Amino acid sequence: MTKDMVEVLLTAEEISSKISEIAERIMNDYAGKNPVFIGVLKGSFVFMADLMRKINLYCDIDFMAVSSYGNKSETTGAVKITKDLEQDIENRDVIVVEDILDSGLTLNYLMGYLKSRKPLSVRLCTLLDKPARRKVSIIPDYKGFDIPDAFVVGYGLDYAERYRNLPYIGVLKPEIYKE
Ligand code: 5GP
Repeated sequence: MTKDMVEVLLTAEEISSKISEIAERIMNDYAGKNPVFIGVLKGSFVFMADLMRKINLYCDIDFMAVSSYGNKSETTGAVKITKDLEQDIENRDVIVVEDILDSGLTLNYLMGYLKSRKPLSVRLCTLLDKPARRKVSIIPDYKGFDIPDAFVVGYGLDYAERYRNLPYIGVLKPEIYKE
């Protein structure tokens, strides 16, 4: 699969040490608390698995799945929940775990939806951020890396469902899109 990449943007080692930093911050901020981590499927599954194994707190883990209406390059902000939470988050401290923040439209919708369920608090943790692409004002509470406006895959992120199993994050060659 590496032959399909223009470059490796973030190595497995870089990702791992950044996740250790994020885990430390979360453990400090939530010491003595019992937060609920909510992973947004499918892209966040690898990040979630690595992050959770570095968090030494009593906590719950749940997942949601969403799909955007319209095609993927132009998200409209209209979001359909295809898998809802399995537990009640009323009066709970919630941390949403996302792979990448792009226009922000999906997360904006999701954060609004979660807040309507009356949690005590909701924070956002994203591994990657493309601030140049933002269409709505949304600032993550925990962030791994700012990245340039390029289409990246690996470490949970796909192109047409491929490449999620790459251990690093790479920039996909443009000719792959045209195949
Ligand atoms: P937003 O609503 O912030 O524009 O969309 C975020 C979603 O778009 C992410 O969860 C992800 O599914 C997708 N996305 C945005 N940028 C990329 C990218 O560079 N690579 C991949 N694989 N997905 C992306």
